[in-house]
Amino acid sequence: ANAIFWHRRDLRIDDNAGLFQALTEFQEVQPIFIFDSCILEELPKSDRRVSVIYDFIEDLNKAYQKAGASLKVYHGDPVEVFQNKVLSEFPELKKVFTNEDYEPYAKNRDEKIEAILAENGIAFQAEKDQVIWAKDDILKSSDNRPYTVFTPYFRKWKERLEKDGAYSFNVSDRLNHLAKVEYKLPNIESLGFSNQDVPLPNKEVSSDILNHYEEIRDYPAKAGTSRLSVHLRFGTISIRKLVQQAQEEGAEIFLSELAWRDFYQQILHHFPHVVNGSFRPQYDQIPWSNNEDYFKAWCEGKTGVPIVDAGMRELNETGYMHNRVRMIVASFLTKNLLIDWRWGEAYFAEKLLDFDLAANNGGWQWAAGSGTDAAPYFRVFNPLTQAEKFDPRGTYIRKWVKDMGKDSYPKKPIVDIKESRKKAIEVYKKALSGE
Ligand code: FAD
Repeated sequence: ANAIFWHRRDLRIDDNAGLFQALTEFQEVQPIFIFDSCILEELPKSDRRVSVIYDFIEDLNKAYQKAGASLKVYHGDPVEVFQNKVLSEFPELKKVFTNEDYEPYAKNRDEKIEAILAENGIAFQAEKDQVIWAKDDILKSSDNRPYTVFTPYFRKWKERLEKDGAYSFNVSDRLNHLAKVEYKLPNIESLGFSNQDVPLPNKEVSSDILNHYEEIRDYPAKAGTSRLSVHLRFGTISIRKLVQQAQEEGAEIFLSELAWRDFYQQILHHFPHVVNGSFRPQYDQIPWSNNEDYFKAWCEGKTGVPIVDAGMRELNETGYMHNRVRMIVASFLTKNLLIDWRWGEAYFAEKLLDFDLAANNGGWQWAAGSGTDAAPYFRVFNPLTQAEKFDPRGTYIRKWVKDMGKDSYPKKPIVDIKESRKKAIEVYKKALSGE
């Protein structure tokens, strides 16, 4: 093979921008994937997400096999894999194609690999694939700076979409340009992990859900959202095709959620300091209480606030949590418990199957008030009224908190809701006024 296509967050063949480009320019393209040991080393053997990625890789390989080709899978530090393996295994290599990744770790890794390849006279090209508009695609006309508020960003996002359209890449026409070589997948045990049998949602969203999205998306007991987040995260579906569907069905609010995903990706690209620090730096002055017992109770779903505990138990058991409940538990942690949003962010990162640095960081900073579109700090969710409003019959709570009323369940919330709200407002006010 004289070209390689490197899969990362795009575990599909269909409508894959970088793969399309590779197959257009070259006659013999070898697709590869690397299980990144720098990331995997940190994880427990039973990590559910690794098992999910492994399943996606198996499916991807099957799709390549149907076209008479196969996926070559490596395990190691990607920089070393290119340096020590790819270069010697593919002496005819002219170009490596991939799709863009906007996370700081990935950008840094890609720069290193691009440099190694360049030293060997090999080109490196990354396409935009996982979002509709990235990096500098959508800037403010007034000063050519990135948007930091969602509503005007979305207006422009949509204008550009209507003008340029969500095109698709017809990869299937070019599959005869894949290298016809048979590689074997390593088994999951050889990567140091075990199969976890995680049930995954469908790769499609029905018209019925899109038509009623606006009315029922906030009710966690109802199946009112697409559940596509894990597929969007790993690129097992195409964002462009999903956007086309949303446009055709006139699902405006759903479309705006997809735009939030782009929005946070471009925030991460332009403001990488958000990875460790508050988007609004003055929020780093807040003196968090960081009570470890409270944090443990929150993680385990034992705070005595049923809606919070239901959400955390859903997360612990399934690797998913409904969006409305993510907002409630995040607000409870950062405001009522006064625990640093980074603690919650890290816990979500460990547990969510759909964990995405940009969206997760954006969601947490929003809840803590330190982020882009954050509501004023003195507007604090009351988890009890949130539950009355969005889970009026308690169906969601009862599904996940089966021991409510029993001895094992806290008799009352670990903190008084009203008192802790008052305290949070005082602490925030003082820190932000610089007193
Ligand atoms: P739907 O309502 O069907 O939305 C469709 C898609 O739009 C989602 O799959 C997702 O890709 C995107 N989307 C929806 N809402 C958002 C949003 N607020 N920000 C960015 N993208 C969005 N989403 C993640 O994908 N990964 C995360 O790690 C993540 N962490 C979050 C942490 C917090 C504290 C909060 C408040 C939200 C977080 N979200 C995250 C956003 C949102 O909760 C999930 O995307 C959504 O619940 C996934 O369910 P769904 O696929 O049924 O969503």
